[in-house]
Amino acid sequence: MKRILVTGGAGFLGSHLCESLLNQGHEVICLDNFFTGRKANIIHLLDLPQFECMRHDVIDPFKLEVDWIFNLACPASPIHYQFNSIKTVKTSVMGAINCLGLAKRVKARVFQASTSEVYGDPNIHPQTEDYWGNVNPIGPRACYDEGKRCAETLFFDYHRSNDVDIRVVRIFNTYGPKMMADDGRVVSNFVVQALRGEDITIYGDGSQTRSFCYVTDLINGFIRFMEHESGFPGPLNLGNPGEFTMLELAEKILNKVGSSSKIIHLDLPQDDPKQRQPDISLAKSKLNWEPQVSLDEGLDHTIDYFRKEC
Ligand code: NAD
Ligand code: UDP
Repeated sequence: MKRILVTGGAGFLGSHLCESLLNQGHEVICLDNFFTGRKANIIHLLDLPQFECMRHDVIDPFKLEVDWIFNLACPASPIHYQFNSIKTVKTSVMGAINCLGLAKRVKARVFQASTSEVYGDPNIHPQTEDYWGNVNPIGPRACYDEGKRCAETLFFDYHRSNDVDIRVVRIFNTYGPKMMADDGRVVSNFVVQALRGEDITIYGDGSQTRSFCYVTDLINGFIRFMEHESGFPGPLNLGNPGEFTMLELAEKILNKVGSSSKIIHLDLPQDDPKQRQPDISLAKSKLNWEPQVSLDEGLDHTIDYFRKEC
C-alpha cells in the first residue's frame, strides 16, 4: 500500500484515478483548487478513512510525505485553459516545479499528465513519441501546449540532474462519465446538445480528426506505467488509435441518442489541429497496454451518464 498524492484529483480524470487507487487499497490525498474540478466527482470518497482532500493551488508550494505523485492539475478544455492563459502557464510550469521539488525531497516517483498537444498540428501521422511537434508558440493554444512542453522539459531535467524517478504520459483525447456538461470539449458538447435537442456545433467543416480513448482504459494505463519498475521515464503516448472526423462523431452520437438536433457549422478556432492519432507501439511493448473499450461502447456509457446529469 502506498500514500499517493493526486493533484487535480477532483477533475474528470483525477477523480477516476483517485477511485481506482483507493480500490487497489492505497491511501490517496487529492489536491485541487476546484477551478474545473467538482466536489460532486469525489463526494462518495470523502468519508473513506484512506482518502483526504485539500483545497490548494499547485502554483503554491506544498509539503507532504508521499510515495507517489500524479500531477494532473491543469484545466484541459480549450475554453477553460484560455480563460486565464497566464494562470494556465503558471499552473503547468510552477505546478511541475512544486511536484518535482517534493518528489526530490521525499524520493517519490512522480507522474506528469502531459498531452498530445505537445505535437501541435502534427506533420507526421500517426504521432510517435520521437516527433518534436509543430506548435505555434504565440497562438491562443500556446499557454497550454507550451506550458505542458515546458513541464516535460522540467521533468526530464530533474530526472537527469537529480535522479528523480519520473513517468511522463502524453494523453490523447479522453472522454467518459464525470466530464462537465459545460466543459466545452467535443464529446461532452455533442452528447449534451443531442440530449437537449440543441444544435450540434461543429467547428469548421468537421473534417478534422481526433482519436478518442475511454477513461477506464486510460486510467489503467496510468497505473500500469507507475507500477512499472523498469525505470523507463517516457514520454509515452496513451490513447485509442481509432480515428474519427468530428462529422462522424456527431452523426454517431445523434444516432445513438435518437435526437432530432440539427448539425450547424461554426468558425474553426485558430490553430485547431487538423488530425490526431496516437502511435501506441511503445505502450504495447513496454506495458503490454492497449485500449479495450470501443468508441461505440464508451459513448453508450457516456450518454447514460449525461442522461442522468442533464
Ligand atoms: P479537468 O479540467 O477535468 O481536471 C483538471 C483538474 O485540475 C480540476 O480538478 C481543476 O480544478 C484542477 N486544477 C486546475 N488548475 C489547478 C491549480 N492551479 N491548482 C490545483 N488544481 C488545479 O481536466 P482532465 O480532463 O481531468 O485533465 C487532467 C489532466 O490530464 C490535465 O493536466 C490535462 O492537461 C491532462 N490531459 C487530459 C486530456 C483529456 O482528454 N482529458 C488530454 C490530454 C491531457
Ligand atoms: N469541436 C467541435 N465542436 C465543439 C467542440 C469541439 O467541432 O462543440 C472540435 C474542435 O474544434 C476540435 C475537436 O472538436 O477540432 C476536439 O476538440 P476538443 O476541445 O474536445 O479537444 P482538442 O481540440 O483539445 O483536441
